[in-house]
Amino acid sequence: MLGPPGAGKGTQAAMLHEKLEIPHISTGDLLREHVRRETPLGKQAKFFMDKGNLIPDQLILDMLFERISQTDCVKGYILDGFPRTLPQAESLQNRLKGQSRPIVLNLDLADATIIERLTKRVVCESCGTPYHLIYSPPKNGGVCDKCSAKLIQRSDDTETVILKRLKVYHDQTAPLIAYYTQLKILHTIDCKNSKETIFSEVVAHIPQSQK
Ligand code: AMP
Repeated sequence: MLGPPGAGKGTQAAMLHEKLEIPHISTGDLLREHVRRETPLGKQAKFFMDKGNLIPDQLILDMLFERISQTDCVKGYILDGFPRTLPQAESLQNRLKGQSRPIVLNLDLADATIIERLTKRVVCESCGTPYHLIYSPPKNGGVCDKCSAKLIQRSDDTETVILKRLKVYHDQTAPLIAYYTQLKILHTIDCKNSKETIFSEVVAHIPQSQK
């Protein structure tokens, strides 16, 4: 899942995980878990995340490759928030060694809509489910509909950090659109519609044999 922060990568990846029953791997969630557990990686990652910057490629690659080598990934997996730089994308292609052909879904959304979405986003501190305080509010105030844990605002969902994350996306991640277009594996989806409409487009790009 490629796309700017707030385009709906996490939401679509979670829906796809339910449908395909393959792991949903969010590098952001993995990093937040390291931060919460105060691991050495978490301590380093927090420094970058709080400023809206990317974590150095090698740290991300070590973490991600360790995760996708686990047995639950043999039938495939959904990557959410990875790759975010050209070296990450090239390392992933090298690792796949042409044996499997990724499907790259580019979730496209205008910056103004992203800012509006992210400043009003809250997420479950336990399962990560996102809510929008106006468009998709939780049913019971400040708790998650799925697991009843507390809803919080991510520390990087403040306007200053969102603007920085968008700049980082345009400078470092958007070039991947050209990279995957060249490999002929990119599908762009307009994300201003409802999550259900977007999901039907997402599913339409998955080959029948994998559904
Ligand atoms: P996300 O939850 O995907 O919005 O990611 C939150 C933050 O985690 C980002 O702003 C980065 O600081 C860091 N991060 C997540 N994925 C990556 C990645 N693939 N490469 C570098 N940094 C990442």
